[in-house]
Amino acid sequence: MKIGFIGLGVMGAPMARHLAGAGHEIATTLNRSPLPQGLTAKVLSSPTEVAEVSEVVILMLPDTPDVERVLTAEAGVLAGLKPGTLVIDMSTISPIATRRFAEAVAEKGGSYLDAPVSGGQVGAENASLTIMVGGAETDHDRALPLFQIMGKNITLVGATGAGQICKLANQIIVALNIEAVSEALVFASKAGCDPARVRQALMGGFAASRVLEVHGERMIKRTFAPGFRLKLHQKDLTLALDSAKALGVSLPNTATAQELMSACDRDQDHSSLVKALEALACHQLG
Ligand code: NAD
Repeated sequence: MKIGFIGLGVMGAPMARHLAGAGHEIATTLNRSPLPQGLTAKVLSSPTEVAEVSEVVILMLPDTPDVERVLTAEAGVLAGLKPGTLVIDMSTISPIATRRFAEAVAEKGGSYLDAPVSGGQVGAENASLTIMVGGAETDHDRALPLFQIMGKNITLVGATGAGQICKLANQIIVALNIEAVSEALVFASKAGCDPARVRQALMGGFAASRVLEVHGERMIKRTFAPGFRLKLHQKDLTLALDSAKALGVSLPNTATAQELMSACDRDQDHSSLVKALEALACHQLG
């Protein structure tokens, strides 16, 4: 299949490598960064040119304005889109803007899936991403063989935007889990307990979680190199809060976690949220 892939960063580069490795022809366009090592792809000068030669266009860009620019700018994807082309946005962006983008693609005779992912850089490199899909079943079925090259747990969640909503739900759960583990470890440590032993004990009980296991260890060992940058997680919580506001839903603890992130180094791993709780307790773990 001829695939246009735009956004070859931490996540996009390994995802595109897997597609190329499975025999698909990749076309791309670059902004600042060079073509990632180990990827064979035709480099074109604009998203329009990528769309002109592609049956499927995949986007893996940082945020909503980036997707908007790549789709709708003068030399954007929409200007080169052929009828029947499937646009798949795998970035984590606004569910509200997603519906607008899907309509714009439909007006050009194309179809659109939102398909954000979970699993991080390791999941992208191991082709074991969780992929949460929003859109029509026929488009999902058409994209499934490509998703299966990049991921393992693939779910059609619902109509357009449902993939992004599901991803934001994921980000709420993970952020509140990190905040809960941070509070618990700071509390136990200031009470005089060894946080490493507390984590060990809790790993066997009802409080066990992947966050306690992986990020609890990061907090104790002070390994805050990303990983998943705190600023990307804060962006996702802002998207969740904006969507909740539009729906009339209150997310009080998401709002607190989002605020606490402003007190942290946004280029460190999101597990470094513990530092905000440490500052409030005037106490550092370990
Ligand atoms: P990244 O910043 O590493 O990569 C984004 C890439 O897009 C960069 O290479 C950048 O040069 C490129 N880009 C931006 N504008 C462009 C343009 N106009 N034309 C061509 N290329 C352009 O980001 P990432 O970590 O790969 O994340 C991508 C998306 O995936 C984000 O929405 C993020 O929230 C989501 N995500 C990231 C992770 C993670 O662990 N990093 C996990 C799950 C989901």
